Amino acid sequence: MQMKFMERTLIGDLSSKKGEEVQIKGWISVSRDQSKMVFCDVRDRSGKVQGVVFGKPEVLEIAKTLKSEYVVSMTGMVNTRPEKAIKEGVVNGDIELEITGITILNAAETPPFDIMENSYGKDEEVRLKHRSLDLRTERMQRNMKIRSQFVKKCRDFLMNRDFTEIETPLLTESTPEGSRDFVVPSRHNPGKFYALPQSPQQYKQLLMNAGFERYVQIARAIRDEDLRADRGYEHTQIDVEMSFVERDEVMAIIEEMIISTVEEMGYEVKQKPFPKVTYAESMKKYGADKFDMRTQEDKENGILAYAWVIDFPFFEKTDKGDWTFTHNPFSMPKAEFIDDVLKGENIENILTTQYDLVCNGFEAGGGSIRAHKPEIIRAVYKVMGNTDEEIEDKVGHMLEAFKYGTPPHGGIALGVERNVMNLTGEESLREVQAFPMTRKGQTSVMNAPKALAPEQLVELGLSIKKLDNDKD
Ligand code: ASP
Repeated sequence: MQMKFMERTLIGDLSSKKGEEVQIKGWISVSRDQSKMVFCDVRDRSGKVQGVVFGKPEVLEIAKTLKSEYVVSMTGMVNTRPEKAIKEGVVNGDIELEITGITILNAAETPPFDIMENSYGKDEEVRLKHRSLDLRTERMQRNMKIRSQFVKKCRDFLMNRDFTEIETPLLTESTPEGSRDFVVPSRHNPGKFYALPQSPQQYKQLLMNAGFERYVQIARAIRDEDLRADRGYEHTQIDVEMSFVERDEVMAIIEEMIISTVEEMGYEVKQKPFPKVTYAESMKKYGADKFDMRTQEDKENGILAYAWVIDFPFFEKTDKGDWTFTHNPFSMPKAEFIDDVLKGENIENILTTQYDLVCNGFEAGGGSIRAHKPEIIRAVYKVMGNTDEEIEDKVGHMLEAFKYGTPPHGGIALGVERNVMNLTGEESLREVQAFPMTRKGQTSVMNAPKALAPEQLVELGLSIKKLDNDKD
């Protein structure tokens, strides 16, 4: 049957089209064959509607073949439901679509799990293998949309305040953030490797040297870490850097951004302005540098409890007994400790300008004012046991750039996943990423990591040593 051309109406808009004939396109969620009538729930990105077919034998015949996840185009009349059948508070609860035409755009096999069940308690490997189906669930659609809104609102807030969005390279040299690097071999430079960025830290500081003054990037950070519920190999940061600012100015603008973003999204913030807690107080009171200030009632009401943690120690001892940085080697020590850093004295008591944003028990972000003078960066690396040659090799490019009039600057990175976990109430980072890795570090859907073909290895100048734990 040829259907006359009609513009598509989104299912979420059907309520405003009562008494009209419309065309919808989407997926069958469920369909119930009651012999003379077929009821089916149809959904698209905007919502769901109940449709009913009766009285039209040729349409009824097609309707009887419909199964879950079939893709259809339908025409129908938007009818107001009788008073008794109205479902209050449900999208399209006041209407029903009397279906007058059906075109099947694509059939579907029975999916490996029920899309309507929102995948709670389902085998995660199966979910990740068929991730595009898992993403069809209401839960995952909602999570992805909340994530998108959160990022958009933060970005808009900053763009309205004269920030420039600038992309930095993915193939780069290691930036220390306290994790191992993922490395990428180079065909043109056999035996040499790029590192994927653990953060854009050095580039964003160089952008301050370049005079942009206000930088933002929705940046991917890639770290070879032990995987945990709130930690993956890849995460996204709202990465910010500002020139001519003091610590409290960075904290203030970020606090304003977070409050306006989450309040616009309909959330309630427990305490404004965010309380500021020193690292020492936090350790004493909570035994950790992140904490959850919510009461049970706050938790039930989805309230967000933010706080700042400040005055962290700059250095800590490694297992081998050497000094290393606690957060960021490029941070500025607090003013009263700059002399100690320059002299390499009183190391265990030196505090940094680092600030962490904590929310509902998670570290939601962190940043610092940076050392904009080469001698301070050099002194920090000296404290960490580097020789002059090692310093040159590791941060020579920063020391060189910073000779030519680097403004005082500071910044922060907010973890998108951890923030969105708080907004959605999800307990795993994998629930707020579209295509996360499995717990064992396998990509969802695609098959990585995997072995390279022998020709690729030759081209890259690599040979693979047989590892002890190799099978056969
Ligand atoms: N680069 C830091 C991080 O990724 C954030 C910052 O200090 O701006 O955690």
